[in-house]
Amino acid sequence: MNLILLGAPGAGKGTQAERICADYKIPHISTGDIFRKNIKEGTPVGLKAKSYIDKGQLVPDEVVVEIVALRLAEDDCKKGYLLDGFPRTVAQAKALDEIAKDLRVINIDVDLNALMDRITGRRVCPECGAGYHVSTKKGDKCDKCGATIVQRADDQPETVKKRLEVYVNQTAPLIEYYEKKGNLVTVDGMKSIAEVYEEVKKALR
Ligand code: AMP
Repeated sequence: MNLILLGAPGAGKGTQAERICADYKIPHISTGDIFRKNIKEGTPVGLKAKSYIDKGQLVPDEVVVEIVALRLAEDDCKKGYLLDGFPRTVAQAKALDEIAKDLRVINIDVDLNALMDRITGRRVCPECGAGYHVSTKKGDKCDKCGATIVQRADDQPETVKKRLEVYVNQTAPLIEYYEKKGNLVTVDGMKSIAEVYEEVKKALR
């Protein structure tokens, strides 16, 4: 099963991806996570990506495509994988078509007006990547590993505004791209996490 999760920033792609990958036993490939790891480790890719990420812009297609192509060639992807945050442009989708087969796309549809609060209230664990929201999280320690949770630098309001614009202009056209191919299912991302996951499972049956 080769899956793509499409959706605006804050639609819940990461949250649903964790559940899908645990249940279907496939690797979770998040380009955002890959970049954050590279930034933390100070690699050349990390340094390059940081200048774009901090501004809420997309990292250039050729950089992302190469990273994904290398990752998909690894052994653990042979039985399937889930792509979270890739593709984000039509050019990336076309590049993916060259290297991937039998893609199924799940589009998590959300009201863009609800996203500012969702994203600015988001907190993440810098150690294990677990995600939280200030509205439900008690304390500032990660429930999974005990590290102090933080706000992502690009989850500040000004950067979020830019990221949402980028989504509308560059990523949303992918909905039509995959609709035309006939491999896209849309789920209602405004429901609860559990309800969205039920819809996702139904779509995957
Ligand atoms: P995410 O964690 O998916 O929200 O990604 C965080 C940031 O990483 C994005 O705002 C982009 O700057 C960058 N990024 C992640 N995935 C991609 C992609 N497929 N293409 C370009 N930039 C990306």
